[in-house]
Amino acid sequence: MKTFNGIAISPGIAVGPIFKIRKADISFQRKSISNPQMEWLRYQEAIAITKKQLEDLYSIIKRNVDEKDAEIFHAQLLMLEDPDLNESIHQIIEVDHINSESALMDAVNSYIANIESLQDEYLRGRAIDIRDVAKKVLCNLLNIKESPFDGLCQPSIIIADDIAPSDTAIMDKSLVLGFCTVKGGATSHVAILARSMGLAAVAGIGSDILNVSEDNNMAILDGDQGLLVIDPDNHLIKDALFRQNIAIIRQSQNRLHANDPAVTIDKHKVEIFANIGNEKEAKEAIIAGCEGIGLLRTEFIYMQSDHLPTEQEQYCIYKNILDIFGMKPVILRTLDIGGDKKLPYFDLPKEENPFLGQRGIRLCLAYPELIKPQLRAALRAANGHNLHIMFPMVADISEVKAAKELISVCYKELNKEGTLISPSIKIGIMIEIPAAALIADKLAKEVDFFSIGTNDLSQYTLAADRTNASVANLASAFHPAVLKLIQKIIIDAHALGKKVGLCGELGSEPEAAPILLGLGLDEFSMNPVAIPGIKSVLRQLSFENTQAFVNSVLQAPDSASVKKMVRESFPQIF
Ligand code: PEP
Ligand code: MG
Repeated sequence: MKTFNGIAISPGIAVGPIFKIRKADISFQRKSISNPQMEWLRYQEAIAITKKQLEDLYSIIKRNVDEKDAEIFHAQLLMLEDPDLNESIHQIIEVDHINSESALMDAVNSYIANIESLQDEYLRGRAIDIRDVAKKVLCNLLNIKESPFDGLCQPSIIIADDIAPSDTAIMDKSLVLGFCTVKGGATSHVAILARSMGLAAVAGIGSDILNVSEDNNMAILDGDQGLLVIDPDNHLIKDALFRQNIAIIRQSQNRLHANDPAVTIDKHKVEIFANIGNEKEAKEAIIAGCEGIGLLRTEFIYMQSDHLPTEQEQYCIYKNILDIFGMKPVILRTLDIGGDKKLPYFDLPKEENPFLGQRGIRLCLAYPELIKPQLRAALRAANGHNLHIMFPMVADISEVKAAKELISVCYKELNKEGTLISPSIKIGIMIEIPAAALIADKLAKEVDFFSIGTNDLSQYTLAADRTNASVANLASAFHPAVLKLIQKIIIDAHALGKKVGLCGELGSEPEAAPILLGLGLDEFSMNPVAIPGIKSVLRQLSFENTQAFVNSVLQAPDSASVKKMVRESFPQIF
């Protein structure tokens, strides 16, 4: 039995076998071969395996995401049958006596060079697919796993150095019991994903775990205490299963009241919204009892696509989501890439400090071709609904003015084209940079609402990278410095009659509920899974008591003292 300590990033207990994710090395050597027929047969075998994998991927994505997202694998299947490409590869093997790996990459590279020189957007998109499918064939030729989840065939605790957003898009979620990563912090992608799936997760576990653990080792992952125990004894397993059951019972009790409003015992109501990234999550959010969407992370729509989504494609996605919500508010956040979020088909300039570089609104203002189709799609889809548009990563008032100007350009264009646009669209910004918090009084004059992004607000306030496990404890939104900024944002917005929401991970923390309530937050937005639990916590609190409590908690010296004060003052909610 061996115990590893990490950072608790998503609550819950998982008990089961380990599955380790390894990054594949797909380097190979160029070789002459003596038997071209045998080599061609070897190539054909790799193609057959790849076809089977693509068919499986198609079914998995269709089942777990939706049919549209699965289509990409169907298109890749067709590419494997491309007669021109196959003929070129055959020629290189047969005539030049070159090994399959080199023949494949030679043919694919010249095929791609040809289509890229055509400067056609559709064909450029095809080049990405061809590269992707070639990589799959290459892995099969080299006999290595390409998908980090290949071989995952039973519900398991996933152990990895790190898990990229693109990896999780192809993961069969029904086979994941929890996540444990060497890297990452409480607001990293894997943390957000684990919480939205209601799974336990621990980060910053230390790289030893990759050497010490083996696939199928039995383990307990404790997302409440940030622990991973390998080869636990029976006593520990029994205890873990007992705690798992208690949590399940509590969750199902909370779910019974998921649709009741969040009204405190002294009748103060706050709005409970959801953070989502696609249509499937929109449906889950409704079932979880949300009253609207506080954060539609549109970059996930871009990340799940293999090309820059067109205005029409985006229109359909936004329309489908808005239709689910009728007249309930939906806050669409414009594309927030840069930092740790990248688009494979959109080359961003390399930056020394990406989190301090062209991220969010900065990038979109620099490349209006990224955001204009999105704004036009959103404005069109808004008709007959209650859509709000929100800009991320605002640091300066000039950015808000430029973004509003872009919206008004799109309005005018659409009007001219005769498209009906809803006149009631509200415009807001995320407050996630300390500079924005400190000029909140000025920014409030420019917009209809704020939403506080505590994930970034914490990393920028404490100068602690949110994805770096070694500073994860420091990058806490419970730090009094962050709480004081939240207080200022709310006071400044309310002075001008503007509403304030919060869509960072702090909103789903039960320990944060009394603080945020006492600070006067109007709207809590969180992953759908957390909604019933947070509603239940808020219903047990008194607004008046929490207002008094906030005055003392803001005097605490550090995050640990803040949490301790909450636990001591509100024992009933834990
Ligand atoms: C945040 O920064 O708090 C936020 C909600 O945005 P994201 O996590 O997508 O950066
Ligand atoms: Mg953010």
